[in-house]
Amino acid sequence: MTPEPSYRPSSPGRSCPKTMLVRHAEVLVTMDGARRELRDAGLFIEDNRITAVAPTSELPPTADEVLDLRGHLVVPGLVNTHHHMYQSLTRAVPAAQNAELFGWLTSLYRIWANLTPEMIEISTLTAMAELLLSGCTTSSDHLYLYPNGCRLDDSIAAAARIGMRFHASRGSMSVGAKDGGLPPDGLVEREADILADTQRLIETYHDAGRYAMLRVAVAPCSPFSVSRDLMRESAALARTYGVSMHTHLAENAADVAYSRERFGMTPAEYAQDVGWLGPDVWHAHCVQLDAAGIDLFARTRTGVAHCPCSNMRLASGIAPVRSMRAAGVPVGLGVDGSASNDGAQMVAEARQALLLQRVGFGPDAMSAREALEIATLGGAAVLGRDDIGALAPGMAADFVAFDLHQPRFAGAWHDPVAALIFCAPSQVAYSVIDGKVVVREGHLATVELEPLINRHNALAQRLASAAH
Ligand code: ZN
Repeated sequence: MTPEPSYRPSSPGRSCPKTMLVRHAEVLVTMDGARRELRDAGLFIEDNRITAVAPTSELPPTADEVLDLRGHLVVPGLVNTHHHMYQSLTRAVPAAQNAELFGWLTSLYRIWANLTPEMIEISTLTAMAELLLSGCTTSSDHLYLYPNGCRLDDSIAAAARIGMRFHASRGSMSVGAKDGGLPPDGLVEREADILADTQRLIETYHDAGRYAMLRVAVAPCSPFSVSRDLMRESAALARTYGVSMHTHLAENAADVAYSRERFGMTPAEYAQDVGWLGPDVWHAHCVQLDAAGIDLFARTRTGVAHCPCSNMRLASGIAPVRSMRAAGVPVGLGVDGSASNDGAQMVAEARQALLLQRVGFGPDAMSAREALEIATLGGAAVLGRDDIGALAPGMAADFVAFDLHQPRFAGAWHDPVAALIFCAPSQVAYSVIDGKVVVREGHLATVELEPLINRHNALAQRLASAAH
């Protein structure tokens, strides 16, 4: 009798070469200290790290796997510093299409209250597939609600399966409506439970080592959904273990008004008061960070996840990225959750960052190369990493390649690097993460997309109907 075949997650085409030679890239952007842009160039990779970056003629002639990238632009893998991947189950929800932040959240909380562990895992896979195909190789995710047995472990399992470098942020909400917070009381957790679970996750999963594929961050959701005590105790816990801290801050005018009314201080002053400044902290949005706040962030090297599409979608305003960078604030890019930026594409986000700064602050407010730098090196710095974001010997083997022979790039032969940002957002032809091919010839190599999207859509419909 033939035994029934056991189920294994499919991984067609995924390979684990000991050495990899990448050659003949039309242009290769290093983002190294010299910001070199090499023509007819490539990389040599041993296991999961880069050992050489050079013109093709200076690289070894062969390797276990050879990628011939003639006609492609190669850049470091893009880094996404802010997301809520579960929200890809609630895109374009009619009741939340035309609201600002607080109204948008209130419409969606009652749907999210029905999330299940499978929904977390499947939506994380879908969100990561979208990110990977758009050039992102490292992503953070901020999961802050845990109804019906959901756990951050569900997201972590998805990242391992699809092959994405992952900073999993253990979010939380503890102040419900009856205590003056925004979320419904049924969606908040007890603070002792939050801290215990966060500690469990750090001890179980956090990898502090170089080339780590998984790190855990401590991430109360926002000043309007957790207490001052939880902010302080979360910071103490994070610093005991040396892990990063993440939350939302100064997202829009109502957020600032809440801070002034409830705490008697600006969001930046509140962050300082509860110990949430420093090189181990990054805050999402900071659209309404004032001049004193920018100065405080710069002096303490506190990072910002800039989310231009979400800020435009929710009419939150234009974050002063030009001023932040001029002052020395580390800035990375975030696509934000898929319910407030219903397209989570990293190249599109970099393009939008450039366009929005120009709307707010003039044509020289951001160049294409600066947008690409924020999307790579900027994100790496915000996540506290010096092993990703650039292509250089000793860096992690994370890069992406874009095929320049597409209609969207036609006529941009003078400057393919600027074209990546100025032209219509592109999908990657190749993505290599930790030395492994995750996207090959435009197709995801680790997970089959069609059954994933079918399951995702079925779960999205179930989630929507459960709220009625
Ligand atoms: Zn967010």
